[in-house]
Amino acid sequence: MRGNALRLSARGIAVRTALVAVVIFGTAAAIGGGSLFWTAAAAFTTCFAAAALFRNTMPLQDRLAAPVRRREGILTPRALLAALPDPVVVVDRRSLVTGMNAAAQAMLPTLREATPLSFALRSPDVLDGLEAVLRTGGQRKVEFGERVPIERAYEVHIAAVETSPAADDGQRGAALVFRDLTAARQLEHMRVDFVANASHELRTPLASVLGFIETLQGPARDDSTARERFLGIMREQARRMARLIDDLLSLSRIEMHAHVQPQTPVDLLGIVRHMIDTLTPLARESSVTITLTAPDGPLSILGDRDELLRVFENLIENAVKYGESGERVEVTVATSPGRSGTAEEVEVTVRDFGPGIAPEHLPRLTERFYRVDVADSRQKGGTGLGLAIVKHIVNRHRGHFAIESTPGEGAAFRVRLPLASTVAPAE
Ligand code: ADP
Repeated sequence: MRGNALRLSARGIAVRTALVAVVIFGTAAAIGGGSLFWTAAAAFTTCFAAAALFRNTMPLQDRLAAPVRRREGILTPRALLAALPDPVVVVDRRSLVTGMNAAAQAMLPTLREATPLSFALRSPDVLDGLEAVLRTGGQRKVEFGERVPIERAYEVHIAAVETSPAADDGQRGAALVFRDLTAARQLEHMRVDFVANASHELRTPLASVLGFIETLQGPARDDSTARERFLGIMREQARRMARLIDDLLSLSRIEMHAHVQPQTPVDLLGIVRHMIDTLTPLARESSVTITLTAPDGPLSILGDRDELLRVFENLIENAVKYGESGERVEVTVATSPGRSGTAEEVEVTVRDFGPGIAPEHLPRLTERFYRVDVADSRQKGGTGLGLAIVKHIVNRHRGHFAIESTPGEGAAFRVRLPLASTVAPAE
């Protein structure tokens, strides 16, 4: 601290001396009729004074970083760093930070120039990798993970950056590029979970069918009553497997075309009416009445008829299955100005008056295989994929799907879709 103050005051003296010299040499040059010697002396001292002044007025942070930056000039092309979307940090041969971009600053808020990288990044793997690259050159790839504030995973590419060996300040630094693997990891987890869930869902009925076959081949070989009963159960289990495979195939087909908006005009009201007619016998078996409230049709939207039939089949069937105790299902179709205020929309609501759904389940109902009560869903022939299929189809039609429920009073499933007359043709 004391030494620094001394150095600064010494620089102050140098500035004042240089300014006095400028005045003296300048006056001498003027008196000497602009002689070459005095003019050159005045110019030299002016430059010296300006340089001394400039150095003295630099902020402390820049003054600390200045020696690093001068030596590492080509290691810190700021405009280039700023243009990169991934976090990038550049360090010199002593691991002092000489450059970073905004993404790196956001990822490591305590990162500062001219300070060691280890102050901001406490990952032994990255720091060891960096040390090795600074020592031997070349490149390394290491992983770096954070658990707080949220779990994130990065792959860090560490590469040596050399200034020109021909230049007298030629030396080695390193660039660290962080690639965010969080989304890829989450997708991978989802895929693994999906395969595990699908296999589990198939394995249970398959094990049951195999068990009954063995029983029929062995102890129950001559028992005709047992045979009839077991064959009935086997048929039900085989149907369950078939439903599951159908649902899995539909889901993958819809996902494959998720980015292509259907372009065929279809009458949504006709589709809803058709589905109510189809499911009325099933509802009657459960003593449920389905009612429809709708404007005079038709209501044209750009859609895929089979997929839309699937949407209302799933929603009305669920309402009958899970809301059976409410004894009625109301389907309402209405048009509205739309969320943007310009495009007109049609909204179809399927409401039941059964037990409803607790709020903690609502956000997860459209996840594949998510069920409030697994045994209840299985017993009712569910696969746990119905609402996931609904959500994907509605998204593909550029619509909106929402679920509301008050436990004890039933549930309402709303599908909003843009009407064809107001839809801009897709590119
Ligand atoms: P599932 O094949 O099990 O019916 P879905 O994806 O169609 O699968 O529905 C997911 C879960 O949402 C169901 O298992 C059920 O717990 C719940 N659910 C769906 N519709 C209703 C409803 N109308 N009332 C109460 N719960 C419902």
